[in-house]
Amino acid sequence: MILKAEHLILGDGKTVLEQGAVCVDSEGKIKSVGPSDQIERQNPGEEVRDYGEATILPGLFDMHVHFGYYYSQPGLSEYDDYMVAYYALKQAAYALDLGITTVRDLASPYNLCKKMRMAGEAGFIEVPRIFHTHTGICMTGGHGHEDGITEVDGVWPLRKEIRRQLRDGADWIKILTSNREDFPEFTQEELNAAVDECHRRGVKTAVHAGTQPAIQMCIDAGFDTIEHGTFMTLAQAEQMAENNQAWVPTITAYTYLYEYTKRLIEEGGDLSNPISARAVKDQAFFEPAANAYRDHFKSFYDTGVTVLAGSDMVLYGAPPLPIHQELAYMVEYGITPVQAVATATGNPSRVMGLEKVTGFLHPGLQADLLVVQGNAAEDIHALDQVLGVYLGGRRVREN
Ligand SMILES: [Zn+2]
Repeated sequence: MILKAEHLILGDGKTVLEQGAVCVDSEGKIKSVGPSDQIERQNPGEEVRDYGEATILPGLFDMHVHFGYYYSQPGLSEYDDYMVAYYALKQAAYALDLGITTVRDLASPYNLCKKMRMAGEAGFIEVPRIFHTHTGICMTGGHGHEDGITEVDGVWPLRKEIRRQLRDGADWIKILTSNREDFPEFTQEELNAAVDECHRRGVKTAVHAGTQPAIQMCIDAGFDTIEHGTFMTLAQAEQMAENNQAWVPTITAYTYLYEYTKRLIEEGGDLSNPISARAVKDQAFFEPAANAYRDHFKSFYDTGVTVLAGSDMVLYGAPPLPIHQELAYMVEYGITPVQAVATATGNPSRVMGLEKVTGFLHPGLQADLLVVQGNAAEDIHALDQVLGVYLGGRRVREN
């Protein structure tokens, strides 16, 4: 099968092909990528799908999802394991609708993502490629403890919990060490031990750190990805670039929280949802948070720090998995659409160690493809009009 379109974005942050095509082999891998006349000549008799004025790009990654975060749903008392699984399945369906073919889940109920992946492999359900932590780990009373994050204190209990999660199939470990205040939750000794326990097993680890001095402590501890980094400094971005630590800013989540809570306060909206009520309580945090992303994103990007797109949206009624909006903010704040696309394709592929699997339009990789209307290399909002989504060469969405 040959897919052709007027524009191809290869995923490396710079290469765009005009009048290009992707040939997909019978095993669902990319056989070749190049000018469409050449690809068609080399593969006579192949079925050709001509998408016309459209862009073909690698299927997207969302590097910060919580498929099983049901805590903001109404009717919470009905949420047993069955309901949580159905809820998570709906999130997975949204992902495919948007052209997200790979996710990293950074905390969901224990084993949920492991079993979703298994059920996908067994053919029971249709899900994107899933890489996951289990519940995430915070200190007793720390960020997320009300929402299913496992509470652990001290170096050896931390190591033991990490060992348990790895034994039970976690691909990554997630630590949470800051909330809305400027104090770090875990001690430096605990953070260092967590990273050491992962790295000596060859496993990567992500950390929720948005305030100071938690961000600096996490950079020093050697975490592989810093989630949010909301009040990061330029010097810290430079340090992360040098240490090869990646940044997952989650601009949309904080900007949405700011706008949403502002609206609720101004209009005196319904605060019966506990997660909304909590967000309103934190409104003083969200305004400077949204502004920090707007004002500093470009200068941090320019340090060369690897930026990864993650949506992290958990509010009831919010747009699910707004990864297109995340890329749109990056463009609004100063980078090019092609660079923004790399934060959801080539960059995460490298950080996840999946360069031979997915994230680029390169021969030999799985044909995880997104086709959108228009020229996404010029206009990032083209991503909002999905024409087709392919997972391992199989068409899973067609509009
Ligand atoms: Zn999160």
